Amino acid sequence: MKHSSFNLNGQNQKIESRIVVALERISEAFRVLLWNESKENSLSPIQIQILIFIHFHASEKCKVGYLADEFNMTKATISDSVRVLLAKELVTKETDPIDTRSYSLSLTDEGEKIAKKASFFASSIEQPIENLTQEQKKIMLNGLLKLIYDLNKSGIITMQRMCFTCSFYNVKNGTHYCNLLKTKLAESEIRLDCPEHQISA
Ligand code: SF4
Repeated sequence: MKHSSFNLNGQNQKIESRIVVALERISEAFRVLLWNESKENSLSPIQIQILIFIHFHASEKCKVGYLADEFNMTKATISDSVRVLLAKELVTKETDPIDTRSYSLSLTDEGEKIAKKASFFASSIEQPIENLTQEQKKIMLNGLLKLIYDLNKSGIITMQRMCFTCSFYNVKNGTHYCNLLKTKLAESEIRLDCPEHQISA
């Protein structure tokens, strides 16, 4: 019979199950922190995530379709959130001069203010990570990157801008290498969200 990670009998015998449960706890922490930030601004969690995303990414990525992939949601759900953000004058539309049916979103001054403050919503998770040793951080990052890559490969999550899915990424003599930056990448330098990322075919 298939074993559930949440079945305590098996969980306490299996490290993989305890890691799954630990990740679930951490995702709960993100959910609560994001929810608190949203409530403060009378917005929904996804509306806050959209504002933060626009704040840190180039305009060609700030489109409904791209945001839907980024947050694993339908275009209709993202469009609903965008409508609210437009009505609250937190974002504006910039029509693509080449394709007038397409537009990207940018922040208004008020949207910028909220996004800037909200972007710190996960700081209380970063603080305890700072207390880990460099070795622990490296092992943790490496394990998480591999997990994210596998989940991406099996279609469970989208992760569009990490080194492992980039056409510039290469392995040379067993070391990670970036053909764009022309440099080796240490395990701790592998990026999750790179502005230069180019999707590999
Ligand atoms: S361009 Fe960015 S994502 Fe691509 S391999 Fe280099 S560092 Fe990684």
